[in-house]
Amino acid sequence: MIDLHTHTDRSDGSTAPEDLVRQAVAEGLQALGIADHDTLAGYEAAGPAAAACGLELICAVELSTRPNECRQPGKRERSVHVLGYWLLEPPTTEFRCWLETQQASRRRRNVDLLTKLRELGVSITLEDAEVYGRNQVGRPHIARVLCDKGYVSTIQEAFDVYLADEAKAAVERDEPTLEEGIRLIQESGGMSSLAHPVRLPQRGADLFRLVQRLVEAGLQGIEVHHSEHSPADCAEYAEIARRFDLIPTGGSDFHGDNKPGIRLGHGINGNAMLPYSFLEQMWEQCTVKRH
Ligand SMILES: [Zn+2]
Ligand SMILES: [Zn+2]
Repeated sequence: MIDLHTHTDRSDGSTAPEDLVRQAVAEGLQALGIADHDTLAGYEAAGPAAAACGLELICAVELSTRPNECRQPGKRERSVHVLGYWLLEPPTTEFRCWLETQQASRRRRNVDLLTKLRELGVSITLEDAEVYGRNQVGRPHIARVLCDKGYVSTIQEAFDVYLADEAKAAVERDEPTLEEGIRLIQESGGMSSLAHPVRLPQRGADLFRLVQRLVEAGLQGIEVHHSEHSPADCAEYAEIARRFDLIPTGGSDFHGDNKPGIRLGHGINGNAMLPYSFLEQMWEQCTVKRH
């Protein structure tokens, strides 16, 4: 069993990297992909613990990108996530520097977001959120504070009302375009995969057009298995993978207590359980594409 899409507390998960390794072993996983948002810190911190217990660790990252070159003023677009697997180790200086600029932009976003929340009569501080996101405060951490302080009753409500890309307190953040995200992963030696396509607004022919555009930009994979995918979604994305010669990838998108319904290595009710041979196939197809 494997899980190739997980988050630690170095981005917006709640689990420390070493604890995630221990949990993975307890779940019987043979390989674990840590795909924190815009940072390799979780992966790097998990290294020694994984080596000590013989768990295969996969160097991954998840980038937030904007789908369109041109931005419509005043309209916040939903970010599209791109996963990168098997990045060069150590990462290139360019990639590391670029990741740092993304983290700086996230910090600026947090300050703007809290200002906007205050304007809406919601008074929380960065220090409140830092209790949950010690290393990099993300929106799930802010959501937990909103719950604690009684402004909302669930994390989902915090996103729906305030934090989601189209919600009341949404603020613009500097993000690369989808094409740039794919190129950055490629230049860093990684294999790119379109994350949880179920969250895209495109369906059917529109989705085909988007995938075609991304394949031309160098996209190599698509996340077929994910906690939010129904069996019908999985079948649709597997078909897209076949049609466009993309490598199917998959994982639970585990975030610990920040997304309590998702179980590491399992997803929701076992919908993201993958055997080790899935990873071997990914690697094989990746090797073929590189030659
Ligand atoms: Zn994502
Ligand atoms: Zn994720």
